[in-house]
Amino acid sequence: MTTSELYRAPRPTISFELYPPRTPRGEEQVHETAARLAAGEADYFSVTYGASGTTSERSQALVEHLLAETRVPVIAHLTCVGRSRSQLRDVVSGLLDAGVRDFLALRGDPPEGGEWSPGGDGLARACDLVALIREVEAERFGLPPASPVERLVARRTRRDGVSIAVAAYPGYTVPGLSGEFQVRDDELTALRAKQDAGADFAITQVFFDVEAYVALQRAARAAGIVLPLVPGVLPLTDPDRIRRLCALNRIPEPAELLAELEAAGGPEEAYALGVRRTADLVRGVLAAGAPGLHLYTFNQHAAVTRLLDEVLAPA
Ligand SMILES: Cc1cc2nc3c(=O)[nH]c(=O)nc-3n(C[C@H](O)[C@H](O)[C@H](O)COP(=O)(O)OP(=O)(O)OC[C@H]3O[C@@H](n4cnc5c(N)ncnc54)[C@H](O)[C@@H]3O)c2cc1C
Repeated sequence: MTTSELYRAPRPTISFELYPPRTPRGEEQVHETAARLAAGEADYFSVTYGASGTTSERSQALVEHLLAETRVPVIAHLTCVGRSRSQLRDVVSGLLDAGVRDFLALRGDPPEGGEWSPGGDGLARACDLVALIREVEAERFGLPPASPVERLVARRTRRDGVSIAVAAYPGYTVPGLSGEFQVRDDELTALRAKQDAGADFAITQVFFDVEAYVALQRAARAAGIVLPLVPGVLPLTDPDRIRRLCALNRIPEPAELLAELEAAGGPEEAYALGVRRTADLVRGVLAAGAPGLHLYTFNQHAAVTRLLDEVLAPA
């Protein structure tokens, strides 16, 4: 079963993002985290892919470990950065050879302080990578080129195909303006292009307010985007990590939440408060119709397990 099929089930999915470890100790830690999560709630894992493809081999090694050891589907993240079209085709084929059937197709980030440029005959946008994976899938599994509707029907009836997730971006408020959550027009255009190229579902960037997710949901549906929009959720327990993530992803910091966490009477109180705030966020997005949760683990099981215990506990 590929991950896209999970989103046809009526219950919310629970999935976890892992990253390729840099050290032998990190490797032990991620393997242990994965084993614990696989024994619990995991519907699937996803494995990140470092900027410029620098973690390519370590990412693939972790994907292969998870496929071999956990029996949980695994999404391999893949970016367009630093590779020609034919190199990307080889990477996709290699992952298919390794048993991967689930991809998260991304453009990748521009270099720090720089603008994005594909270079050579490389791909410029995630929608181009979605199309390339569909091309390789068609060659590999004998799918004839077909119209988007025929492709959709084929994907829903065949069992050996590939599932493709893409990134989506929740609304953000603009400092000094009304406080309303707004989704960028170019992000909606990009998401629509990814859907049209053959994406199956989208996973969102981190956000801190239910309204940010609802704004994306509303704007996407109005733009004709029907993809399941899976909220990406960070356990909000560590102010430094929240700040780093906001800087890395160029999103506004949740000032009120950070102040609350920092005013808590000690690390355990701050941690418990962060879990409660994240649980409120999770309940809110599920009530708004989110098809599941994608939890950013940072290769540690404690925070996501505690969060799920809190969310799933009877009221
Ligand atoms: C869930 C998730 C996981 C991620 N995992 C990784 C990872 O493992 N490794 C990594 O390096 N990065 C990762 N990223 C970060 C991602 O690579 C960056 O956010 C990157 O800057 C944009 O990627 P994208 O796939 O959204 O790009 P695209 O969809 O290509 O969009 C990028 C920009 O191009 C423009 N654009 C694209 N298509 C169109 C169009 N058709 N018309 C007009 N404008 C268009 C828009 O301005 C858009 O903002 C992840 C992000 C998310 C949300």
